Amino acid sequence: MPAGRTTAAIESGWAALEAELHVWAPTSRTAAFWWRDDDAVTWTSALERLLELAEDTPIGLAVIPGKAQAELAQTLAVLDTVTVIQHGWRHTNHGTEQQKSEFGCARPLCERLAELAAGRERLKTLFGSRAVAVLVPPWNQIGEDLIPLLTSIGFRGLSRGTIAPCRRRATLPIIGILWRPADRRRRAAKPAPGLHQVNVHVDLIDWGGRRGFIGETEALSIILRHLKDRRLHRVDSDEPIGVVTHHLVQDVATEHFLRRLVATVRRHPAARFVPIPELFPAPSVNSARCQLPIPPPPTYAREGRSDGEGRR
Ligand SMILES: [Zn+2]
Repeated sequence: MPAGRTTAAIESGWAALEAELHVWAPTSRTAAFWWRDDDAVTWTSALERLLELAEDTPIGLAVIPGKAQAELAQTLAVLDTVTVIQHGWRHTNHGTEQQKSEFGCARPLCERLAELAAGRERLKTLFGSRAVAVLVPPWNQIGEDLIPLLTSIGFRGLSRGTIAPCRRRATLPIIGILWRPADRRRRAAKPAPGLHQVNVHVDLIDWGGRRGFIGETEALSIILRHLKDRRLHRVDSDEPIGVVTHHLVQDVATEHFLRRLVATVRRHPAARFVPIPELFPAPSVNSARCQLPIPPPPTYAREGRSDGEGRR
């Protein structure tokens, strides 16, 4: 597409977002956003750049506990807008290359629980109260059998991604295979008693392509569609729209987009970024907690097949 038409399409997208927010303004509702950044291990120039462009926007930083370094904790200690959440244990793939997962159903339940509990303790030790008990499973995959037990090891929140597009057979034989759009609905605000689920809906990385920015037009289109769906109650209208970034692979185009999104949301009276503790409120002191035996500490005899390539 010629550069002029591309720029026009991008500006049209931003104008459409502003127009949508104007529709929200007369109502008593807020177009709520939240920001999750994944795969933090230590303090890097990439993370520094991300937090600089975010200014005072609250961010949920998904830290890999089994690899987290003290340097990260020391630096974050003075950054009040960053809340640490738990990104699995060591971001090890125990699934397949086609369907990566660290906490899928392939391993015994007690083994997965033990790793998550160890990760929770590690983050508490490093980050203290800055670490909120919210689980972000690597590759957004988690066995359904694990979810009802998360509160037993102290979790109060779970955050996953969009459900990936699925292939389905077309009824028209000439077309062959059609792609179904990503399902951006959360199934339940509380998938288990005491467990809040708040997902992300816009992943700014084109993982299936060149692993760069998905592009402003695409990102704005997803945000706009989700905002409209929320306003019209076609999806769970109480769930903020989640934007997920990966600072380690973030390019200049993504940073440019984020700066403008932050400025747009900050400027508009009908929109805001929600702080992470507000999304995942602490349980009341009187709420009963499921009592299960404390799982044994994790063993490291079984390592997965990969943990770096295709990290999400
Ligand atoms: Zn990840």
